[in-house]
Amino acid sequence: MGVRLPPPEQRITDVFQWLRNLLKPKQQTFTRVYCPQCNNELVTDEATTFKHTPEGFVQYDCGKCHAQHVWDFDAPVPLLLRRLN
Ligand SMILES: [Zn+2]
Repeated sequence: MGVRLPPPEQRITDVFQWLRNLLKPKQQTFTRVYCPQCNNELVTDEATTFKHTPEGFVQYDCGKCHAQHVWDFDAPVPLLLRRLN
């Protein structure tokens, strides 16, 4: 008795799943969000803080000009929804 392999269709699905898992973290790493007021890059700026809103969006407090904006990260690209101050 040899080693039992899954049917070919199953193996192809596994490869696609493996590729998706491989690509997912990279896509998140390349997300960039720029402050509409001062053009500060908010995701990598250590002075910038963020919190999740009750609606499931992300509220950024710009570390440079302290403008507060709410972003939707579930869209294909981050969407600016509103300014708070
Ligand atoms: Zn700013």
